[in-house]
Amino acid sequence: MLKASLRSHLTLWFTGLSLLTLLSVGFYVGHIATEQMKQASGNALLNTARSAATSLGEQLRERQLEVYMLSRAPHLERGDLDNPAILKSMQLRTQARTEYAWMGVTDAEGRVHQAVNGLLVGQSVQQRPWFQAGLRGQYTGDPHEAVLLAKLLPGMPNGEPLRFIDFAAPIHNAEGQVIGVLGAHAHWSWITRIVESAAFSHKNASPDIEALIIDNDGKVLYPEALMGQQLATNDSKSSGWSVGNGYLTSMVTVPTPSTTELSWSIALRQPLETALQPAHLLLYKLLILGVFAAVIFGVVAYYLALYLSRPIEQLARSAKQVQDNQPGAHFPLQHPVREIAQLGQSIEAMTHSLLGKERELQQANATLEATVAQRTADLMQANAELLNLATHDALTGVFNRRRFDEKLTEYSLLFRRTGRPFALLLIDADHFKRINDTHGHAVGDEVLQQLAQLIQTSLRTTDFVARYGGEEFAVLLPEISMPDTPERVAEKIRAAVAEADFATAGQVTVSVGVGLADPADNSPGNLIKRADQQLYQAKAAGRNQVASHGYSATPTQP
Ligand code: GH3
Ligand code: MG
Ligand code: MG
Repeated sequence: MLKASLRSHLTLWFTGLSLLTLLSVGFYVGHIATEQMKQASGNALLNTARSAATSLGEQLRERQLEVYMLSRAPHLERGDLDNPAILKSMQLRTQARTEYAWMGVTDAEGRVHQAVNGLLVGQSVQQRPWFQAGLRGQYTGDPHEAVLLAKLLPGMPNGEPLRFIDFAAPIHNAEGQVIGVLGAHAHWSWITRIVESAAFSHKNASPDIEALIIDNDGKVLYPEALMGQQLATNDSKSSGWSVGNGYLTSMVTVPTPSTTELSWSIALRQPLETALQPAHLLLYKLLILGVFAAVIFGVVAYYLALYLSRPIEQLARSAKQVQDNQPGAHFPLQHPVREIAQLGQSIEAMTHSLLGKERELQQANATLEATVAQRTADLMQANAELLNLATHDALTGVFNRRRFDEKLTEYSLLFRRTGRPFALLLIDADHFKRINDTHGHAVGDEVLQQLAQLIQTSLRTTDFVARYGGEEFAVLLPEISMPDTPERVAEKIRAAVAEADFATAGQVTVSVGVGLADPADNSPGNLIKRADQQLYQAKAAGRNQVASHGYSATPTQP
C-alpha cells in the first residue's frame, strides 16, 4: 500500500470532497435552471403561437364572412348573376383588401359571369375544387398554386409560384336552389404575413424562432422550404409545447370558421440550443465558479492540513529519534487540538520515564558487573588459595609432602636425562617431643614455623623446601656447585637454627641427613633412603649435626 503523508491525505480528501460537492450542486442547479428555462421558453412560445393562431383565425373568418355576405346580395338572390352592382361590390372589397387576387361569380355550371378586372370571365371553373365545394356550402380551402390565373396575374417578386387560398359560398335563389357560386382567391402570402407578424411582434421573439403553418394532416404548409414535411401526427396536434428533434416546439390549433373543414395549426419552434442558452450560460458560470471555489478550497485545505499535520509529523519524527536513541527529540506540548496536545504530553512523559528506566537499568547493569568482577576476583583468590593449600603446608607455609614427592620425581627424571646431580637434605628437629611436653603444642607449632623460616632464609630462591613430616623438613638442591656443596648448605641451616633464639622454647637444634642423587638409583626412594640413613647417623652421633657420605660433620657445640 502506498503510504502518503497525513498532509497529502487531508489535502486530497478536503479538495476532493469540496470539488464533488460543488460539482453536484452546480449540476443540480444547472439542471433545474434548464428545466425552468424550457418551461419558460415553451410557455412564451405557446403564448405567441396562440396569439398568431387567434389573429389568423379572425382574418380567415372575416374573409369567409365577406364572401358569404356578397353571395347573399339581393341581385344574386333574384338570379341576376350579371348585375353590375355585384361587380361594383366585389371591386370595392378587393380594393379595400389587397390580399384578394381574384373575386368572381359563376353560374351553377361553373361558367364565370363576372369578375374583378374581368379576369376569367366567360371561362369555366367547373373542375376547380373551390367551385365544387362552393356548390355544397361555404368553403375555405388549403393553399394551392394558381392554375388558371397564373398567366393573367403578375408573379411573386421572389420567384415563388403564385399560391392562393380560396373562399367560396353558394348563391341561392329565392326558392333556395343553388344557382351559382361566389368565389375569391386570396394571396397565400397574406396568410403567411399574418402569421409572421403575429409571431415576431411578440416581445419574446428572437430571430431564430420559426413560424410554421401545419395542415389537417400535420404536414407543413409554410414556410416554403419545409413544405410537405410531416411535422406532427393528427394525435400530437393538440395545443401545447414539446421538446424533440433539437427543437422546442409549441403548437396551437387555428380557430377556423365552423362552416369549413379547415383545421390548421400554427407551430412556433426554436432550436433547443438557443432556447436553453441562458441556462447553459448559467451552468458554465456555475462550473467555473465551482472550479475557482475548489482551487480556493484546496489551498485552504492544504493550510488546514498543514496546521493539523505539522505537530503530528513532529511527533512522528521525535518518536523515531527516541526509538533510534538520537538526541533532539522535541514533542509539541501546546496545540489548540486537544488530542494532539495530549499526545505530545503523553509521549514526552513516556520518553522521560523510559529514559529513567534506562538509566536505572544501566546502573543495575554496572552494579551487576561490579558484583561479577568482585565474585570473579574472590573466586580466583579462593582458587589460588586452594591451589596453595593443595601444594603448601598450612602451618609453616612451605611446600607440603605431596608437592615434595612431585618435585623429587621431576628432579630425578631431569637428573636421569641431563646427568646434572641434585641433593636432598632431610632435616629433623631434635627432641621435639620435649618442647611439646614442656611448653605445650602451640609453642611447638610456633617453633615449627620459625624453623621453616630459618631453613628458607638459609637457601637460594631456586632451592626447594617442604615439610616432610611432623617436625621434619626436606630440602632439594637442584644445582650443586662449589663452594655451596650440599654439606655446606646443610651446615648453614644447622648453624642458623642453633644460633637462633626461639621466643619461648629458647634454643632448638636440628639434625640433617644429606643424600646425593646417584645414577644407579632406580627410584626416588633410593635417595630418600640414603638421606634418611644419614639423618639417623647424625642423630646417632649426638644430634645438632650434619651427616653425609664421605663427609663427617663437625658438630658445633653451643
Ligand atoms: P629425636 O631427637 O630422636 O628426634 O627426639 P624426638 O623427641 O624429636 O623424637 P620423635 O621423633 O619420636 O618425636 C617427635 C614428636 O614431635 C612427636 C610429636 O608429638 C611431635 N610432633 C609431631 N608433629 C607435631 C606438630 O605438628 N606440632 C607439635 N607441637 N608437635 C609435633
Ligand atoms: Mg622426627
Ligand atoms: Mg625429632
